[in-house]
Amino acid sequence: MRSFLEFNPLRNYLSLVHLSNIDFCYKSLRNNSNFALSNFNFTINEGEFISILGPNGSGKSTLIKLITGYLEPQNGKIKLNNKNLNDYKRKDIAKIIAYVPQIPASIYPFSIYEIVAMGRFPYLDFTGFEKKSDKFIIDNILELMELTHLANKGINEVSGGEAQRAFIGRALVQQPKILLLDEPNSHLDIKHQISIFNLLRKLNIEDGLTIITVMHDLNLTSIYSSRVLMLKNGKIFLDGDVNTALVPKVIKYIFDVNVEINTDESNSRSIFIKPDLSLS
Ligand code: ADP
Ligand code: MG
Repeated sequence: MRSFLEFNPLRNYLSLVHLSNIDFCYKSLRNNSNFALSNFNFTINEGEFISILGPNGSGKSTLIKLITGYLEPQNGKIKLNNKNLNDYKRKDIAKIIAYVPQIPASIYPFSIYEIVAMGRFPYLDFTGFEKKSDKFIIDNILELMELTHLANKGINEVSGGEAQRAFIGRALVQQPKILLLDEPNSHLDIKHQISIFNLLRKLNIEDGLTIITVMHDLNLTSIYSSRVLMLKNGKIFLDGDVNTALVPKVIKYIFDVNVEINTDESNSRSIFIKPDLSLS
């Protein structure tokens, strides 16, 4: 399968999110001014499918949380559709941006249906009740996520992968323009990894949903992304296409791991990790 960078008709470079000169430091890190992100400049364009890669602690989740408005930078500006992010009401951001957290968890025993239905929150009126049209969307997404048979089960009574699909479902019922996902496949079996990513690809191509996802799987990254952002120590090391980013030298530098990459005649690549097995 080719990267669809070349044939995505929606890739028209309309800027949706713009981060300029962002510095962000968690309170507990401030004393030694160890910035989670520093002097960070980044633009998300409409119709892109961006994968964010980088070692643990490189700032991937922090970047995602800044874009959602959950975290506020100490310096710099974040603009959403040319308006400052902090000039938006939370509900209005939620109609544009949906977020699937890295470790989806719920302390309350909500049912799968309730978790997915929460995504309609920005659209409910003062009564707080779902309308028929909301229920229709929720049922559709439950079906799409293969969760209909689990709708009444508690979120804490299903497998990690099923819970992960419920949180992706919650994001999709928000009917966002931009979907941010933080390691969405960490709990999914390989069949569901493919089915979820095929669904994301379909939403990206057919509905123009802009997708930014934190990834660890280099092969999935190479198949689905139109753009790859590589982070190291809270900075952008590389921002480019799959052909530039997924090469042995870059992967070695970013992750300190050797890989072998085979490319077939349709330019589809397979990336094999070559661990150092010496016992020294
Ligand atoms: P990644 O998602 O790439 O693994 P994070 O964005 O979660 O990395 O973290 C970036 C840096 O910020 C790391 O050094 C991490 O330890 C630190 N960090 C993350 N979350 C917090 C927090 N809530 N409080 C303090 N430091 C944090
Ligand atoms: Mg993370």
